[in-house]
Amino acid sequence: MPEALKIAKQIQMVDLVSQHEACKIELDTAIQKVLAHGAFINGPEVKTFGQNLSDYLNVKQLVPCANGTDALQIALMALDLKPGDEVITTSFNYVAGAEAVALLGMIPVFAEVNTQSFNLDISSLEKHITSKTKAIIVVHLFGQACDMDEIMALADKHHLYVIEDNAQSLGTEVNYKGKWQKAGTIGHIGTTSFFPTKNLGCMGDGGAVFSNDEALMNKCKSISSHGQGQRYEFQRIGINSRLDTIQAAILDVKLKSLKDSLEKRKKGADKYFELLSGIKNIELPFTQSFSNHTYNQFVIKVLHNQRDSLKQYLSDHQIPSMIYYPKPLHLQPAYAYLNGKMGDFLVSEQLCEQVLALPIHPELSGEQILYITDRIKDFFHAR
Ligand SMILES: *Cc1c(COP(=O)(O)O)cnc(C)c1O
Repeated sequence: MPEALKIAKQIQMVDLVSQHEACKIELDTAIQKVLAHGAFINGPEVKTFGQNLSDYLNVKQLVPCANGTDALQIALMALDLKPGDEVITTSFNYVAGAEAVALLGMIPVFAEVNTQSFNLDISSLEKHITSKTKAIIVVHLFGQACDMDEIMALADKHHLYVIEDNAQSLGTEVNYKGKWQKAGTIGHIGTTSFFPTKNLGCMGDGGAVFSNDEALMNKCKSISSHGQGQRYEFQRIGINSRLDTIQAAILDVKLKSLKDSLEKRKKGADKYFELLSGIKNIELPFTQSFSNHTYNQFVIKVLHNQRDSLKQYLSDHQIPSMIYYPKPLHLQPAYAYLNGKMGDFLVSEQLCEQVLALPIHPELSGEQILYITDRIKDFFHAR
């Protein structure tokens, strides 16, 4: 037990310190280079990183910005949506998409998610389309992509824009029209976040918008820089949303090991699957055929109202876990004006009671996963 406890003490939801130690020399060199040239805003590293990430995603153009929430706002602004337009997104989700929609005077309309994949339920999406619907914010949650064949067909039919919020699934591949492509690059515009805990994280805030539509991306570029065309010529109302040069330099270093770190996440997930299979009171993540899973989060469902007591038990054994998400957006006070009520989205509401995110990150060792899964088995008397 003392040995086990020693391991448990080191378990974290994410281990950014170890992650950075692994490429310390490259990071230090990249940061020192920025300190030496002094171009902290729009320095050369911003362009280089933007190019390298767009090559990785195989997308024509990418505009780095200040964070993933701004990326969504920039995308919505570039599509020329108007106050009063309806934008559909999911209720079992982080708040950023609905927030950007509401800030622009548009109406967030929630749809239900699939109980296995946690992603947008296509039949619910279809039910919420009205004559006012102009766009869908498709969220690829926890590392798994939505069904883009179905979504794009529906969007085509109803003339809707598709924004892909890929903050949690950078590097995920989705099968679209029989071809595997990077998630976020199928719809009209994709967005992502470089928040430190995402698949590709910086040492602060960062984000990006990307698309194969170059005219749209030129607009995004202008919007992210106060609506400028030529310098000091303001063509439209924009915002100030830039990726710091230092963050771009850091991200360019970390992009080189993204593939490797996604493989390590997958290996960790495989070990969880191996060690947790057959426990009756939990459901493991379900990967659908049209997407792979990059496990930004490893989210299990705990049945029979035992989620909170399992969480407490793990915590008592120095194992952190998180609840993404504890309350659906349609029941949040900030969105009460939309008149959402309990019972509107039964799956989302139930998931909020059942989900538990276990530690998963590239630095998590097999030994740590064994310790975590042994404690879960102890809790369920499954050993
Ligand atoms: C993290 C996240 C965002 C926002 O990213 P920030 O960089 O923190 O603004 C948006 N959508 C989803 C689904 C996210 O997980």
